[in-house]
Amino acid sequence: MTRAFNFCAGPAALPEEVLKKAQAEMLDYAGRGLSVMEMSHRSAEFVAIAARAEQDLRDLLGISDDYAVLFVQGGASQQFSMVPMNLLPAGGVADYVNTGQWSSKAIKEAQRFGDVNVVASSKDKNFSYVPSQSDWAPSKNAAYLHYTPNETIGGVEYNFTPQTNVPLVADYSSSILSRPLDVSKFGLIYAGAQKNIGPAGLTLVIVRKELLGHASNAVPAMLNYKTFADNDSMYNTPPTYGWYLAGLVFAWLKEQGGLQAIGELNQRKADKLYGYIDASGFYSNPVQVDCRSLMNIPFALADDALDRVFLKEAEQAGLLNLAGHRSVGGMRASIYNAVPEAAVDALIDFMKDFAKRNG
Ligand SMILES: *Cc1c(COP(=O)(O)O)cnc(C)c1O
Repeated sequence: MTRAFNFCAGPAALPEEVLKKAQAEMLDYAGRGLSVMEMSHRSAEFVAIAARAEQDLRDLLGISDDYAVLFVQGGASQQFSMVPMNLLPAGGVADYVNTGQWSSKAIKEAQRFGDVNVVASSKDKNFSYVPSQSDWAPSKNAAYLHYTPNETIGGVEYNFTPQTNVPLVADYSSSILSRPLDVSKFGLIYAGAQKNIGPAGLTLVIVRKELLGHASNAVPAMLNYKTFADNDSMYNTPPTYGWYLAGLVFAWLKEQGGLQAIGELNQRKADKLYGYIDASGFYSNPVQVDCRSLMNIPFALADDALDRVFLKEAEQAGLLNLAGHRSVGGMRASIYNAVPEAAVDALIDFMKDFAKRNG
């Protein structure tokens, strides 16, 4: 068996150790004679799996008891509407920062529910930077401030946490758990699992408990955070296998030394790749240097007529899923926690060789 190096933006690589553990436990979980997929979510075994996963996540991120941790479905895209449904009162206004395609989608969805004030946008320069907060125009009484710490498609990441006295809401889908994070600065954090947490189908929400219970009566039970908080995310059948796999990933992260250690490794991986791109004269990255993403690194070839042959040869070399998002083209290497440093080294070696042959 050979496993390729997978640079997919999502669903993304999972740690090989996690997949092996899941494989070993697949047919017979802990001597119970069945797989986790076949268990009741109310069984003692699954309730223990669920609680362990939540505790490990709380340990990793230092999440206090002031916050509920919710395991929901519907992806980050459903959070684009759940956030305003739960946090934006009738007649209220919500502040949003627009730094790329994901924040644009969040804005569009929020506009269904009330007034949205876009405090700043980097659209003027093709979303290649983060507008500095001193230039933002916040509302007087916003219900919350929403931003996207890491724009997965553009490869743009904030190098600061916005300062605000309203609840701060963040779409952390592609950068959660990539380095230490001070959760206490946030009202609500959400993340689709399929980038840095686990398989697709599970979405994580970390929400300050005082923000729960303000949704209008018209909000369906399954779209109300309080329903999840009051029922340990088991009001209905949760995505049990995804929850279990996320738990294995959290345990793996603890074994790697936690977020400080994984953050240093991620920084080294990103520095190597950006360093090579900038020095190459053949590849280029369009993002302003001080807000380049740690996780998603887009790059262009000197001649985009070579894109197809680059992708084909990369695949033959065992380097998968390097095509940029279909809306922007070019290349993108997503180097999440589960992508080992050896993958980055192999990619750089391939890029060097390709540039030599085609430059
Ligand atoms: C992938 C992604 C989304 C969309 O996630 P889905 O789970 O497919 O809805 C939203 N925001 C960001 C930042 C993402 O990376």
